[in-house]
Amino acid sequence: MTARYDLHCHSLASDGTLTPAGLVQAASDAGIEVLALTDHDTTDGIREAAAAAVAGLRLVPGAEISITWQSQTIHVLGLGIDPGCDELQAGLAQLREFRDWRAEEIGRRLARAGIGGAWTGARALAQGRIVSRTHFAQYLVEQGHAPSVRDVFRRFLVNNRPGYVSGEWAELEDALGWIRAAGGMAVIAHPARYRLTASKLSRLVGEFRELGGVGLEVVSGSHTRDNINTMAALCRTERLLASCGSDYHGPENCWMRLGELPALPTGCTPVWESEQWPVQ
Ligand code: AMP
Ligand code: MN
Ligand code: MN
Ligand code: MN
Repeated sequence: MTARYDLHCHSLASDGTLTPAGLVQAASDAGIEVLALTDHDTTDGIREAAAAAVAGLRLVPGAEISITWQSQTIHVLGLGIDPGCDELQAGLAQLREFRDWRAEEIGRRLARAGIGGAWTGARALAQGRIVSRTHFAQYLVEQGHAPSVRDVFRRFLVNNRPGYVSGEWAELEDALGWIRAAGGMAVIAHPARYRLTASKLSRLVGEFRELGGVGLEVVSGSHTRDNINTMAALCRTERLLASCGSDYHGPENCWMRLGELPALPTGCTPVWESEQWPVQ
């Protein structure tokens, strides 16, 4: 079965490797009918993606917003947002400011660890306004410091490693306010990736719902079958909607292909069945 919905993807506007138009074409070729472009902390790719949305594919304008919640980085998707919303754009601009500072700081820390030129190198690889850790990882692979992006993360870019800088992202409440102001639906991205204890996850979900959040990404490219079942159960007990998205970043990640996500488990209500859902 081909997945008709993919509600989490990246383009060159953040840390993906396809142009927004290229991503839309690839999704359409893979049989996807509804695609959300959800670049990190920017909506810059949406205009091009929407213009490229060919017959048979509807584009949902989105963003993946970086949040710090109880000292942890959490990602929340805004689906169906209006990119023209000033409040949203002001919020995203703040996040990009932190990103710019963090990128320089990552560069300084890597330099102290003996790896020079990383900030310049990462910035040169970033084609949009976002410099992400992915760009640092790509640069370090190019320079032969590690064999793969995954390896760079493990050795240099995560907690207790030389190039790690802790996140000071948006407050959950602020981010949900921006999404609401932009008319979007807030969904917690890849909830199993944060490795929260059951009680901490339940606190996050409780706060998230109180602040107007509506869904969990139950099916994600980074979720196992067990993760899917756990998050589906949480959606049912917490009466949240369920979303599905690959978190596709481009064809280089050969373990993740477009259009091959498993179906949402039965008993979950999909986000696209909500009255708030932006495309029919
Ligand atoms: P940033 O938002 O700049 O901190 O970068 C986060 C991005 O890095 C994620 O969206 C992923 O695309 C990528 N990423 C995070 N952890 C890993 C990992 N272990 N291996 C490969 N990519 C990763
Ligand atoms: Mn990413
Ligand atoms: Mn994410
Ligand atoms: Mn993502």
